[in-house]
Amino acid sequence: MLILILSLVLLTTNTDTQTNNNDRNMKFELIKLPYSTDALAPVISKQTIELHHGKHLQGYVNNLNNLIQGTEYENADLETIVKKSDGTIFNNAGQVLNHNLYFTQFSPNGGGKPSGKLLTAIETAWGSFENFQKEFEAASTGLFGSGWAWLAADENGKLLIVKESNAGNPLTKGLKPLLGFDVWEHAYYVDYQNRRADHLKELWKIVDWKVVEQRY
Ligand code: MN
Repeated sequence: MLILILSLVLLTTNTDTQTNNNDRNMKFELIKLPYSTDALAPVISKQTIELHHGKHLQGYVNNLNNLIQGTEYENADLETIVKKSDGTIFNNAGQVLNHNLYFTQFSPNGGGKPSGKLLTAIETAWGSFENFQKEFEAASTGLFGSGWAWLAADENGKLLIVKESNAGNPLTKGLKPLLGFDVWEHAYYVDYQNRRADHLKELWKIVDWKVVEQRY
């Protein structure tokens, strides 16, 4: 809990600093949520959405905009920056991309299972959708520290579960990210405290499979 509070304080400080830079041309913007901040409750509370999207993601966006000024990434698109950069630019660009994918893959009307060729590919890779869910939860729960579990596709459409630490994204391995579960504590600590596995189980109820199918 102490770590959470400390990181919130740091992020708030960052955000305050960034607002002094309004005269600069801010390239990347905070994505708009396709639902209201209370729409995903009780799976993800309004408070968590407000902190996670409004503070954490905003912080990454602000940091990225400042860090790329005067660098070779100044006019690059987000995916190019994630593929080519390292260090703090990569960390912030990766987290902007990761969270853009994360927040747009949920819907208050989500849940159920995918259909069409995505479902077929999942069944080919893991035998059944239920078994995929089990494997995905195990990968997410088993990640040590902060990171992401991804459902990703290779160039032939073959599906894989990819575990990434910190700001990692399967894009850097030449894979296409389809669905990402954020296992940083900021994603669940307010609602679930240390119960990461419980949080992950609940997330299935809000996954918008239509969005994930479109990414595939
Ligand atoms: Mn996050």
